[in-house]
Amino acid sequence: MNKITGRNQLSLVSESELQLMATSQYNTFLTENKVLNPGSSKDAAMVDRIGLRITNAITKYFNSEGTGSVLDGYKWEFNTVESKDANAWCMPGGKVVVYTGILPLTQNETALAVVMGHEIAHAIAKHGNERMSQAMVQQLGGMALEVAVAQKPQETQDIFMTSYGIGSQLGAMLPWSRQQETEADQYGLIFTAMAGYDPQEAIPFWQRMSEKSGGSPPEFLSTHPSDETRIRKLKKFMPEALKYYTPGR
Ligand SMILES: [Zn+2]
Repeated sequence: MNKITGRNQLSLVSESELQLMATSQYNTFLTENKVLNPGSSKDAAMVDRIGLRITNAITKYFNSEGTGSVLDGYKWEFNTVESKDANAWCMPGGKVVVYTGILPLTQNETALAVVMGHEIAHAIAKHGNERMSQAMVQQLGGMALEVAVAQKPQETQDIFMTSYGIGSQLGAMLPWSRQQETEADQYGLIFTAMAGYDPQEAIPFWQRMSEKSGGSPPEFLSTHPSDETRIRKLKKFMPEALKYYTPGR
């Protein structure tokens, strides 16, 4: 039973093992991509600023709910990579990457905060753990993670990357389930609002994304499909999210 979502989720992999794997995959990813320096890139500075505001909000949120332990082992890191791909993700333990290719879609800082809040919500709600556990059963017959890493390192790495929506040459991108999307949208909106960003910006952002559906959509959209149902649910949840929002902070 997930403490945050109250939903029963398949979880065969321990969060601490996943965080270890994430740290190693994150560092490898950073060495293989062009990371922008917040000192010289306004985009990277914006990502850092949003990251700091959102992580402060998240800590405050879970402490006030008495469930601060969901953040055990989290060591937040935010990096911006130069890439034409439109994507962003958060690995377990709080390892975040934003690709510059998503900035033409977000168009403003508030919409990027919506995206980052959404990605972080997927990680905290352990959606990646859920997908990884399912894939370990289907593809590796339920092998323990530690054994899988030792005996089938490439397969295990591919499963990890696909589970967290990280594009790889091999991986077909898997969409998150509708339920996972709804959970990430709702927690994401609360985090975004508490960080001082207007959560209502989520509506025009997801409408823009919805217009990009069809053809060959951006990477972000193939993992987070947008349609009328999402936008309707966002609008319905908005009064709740706005309770957490104080304008002008
Ligand atoms: Zn999503």
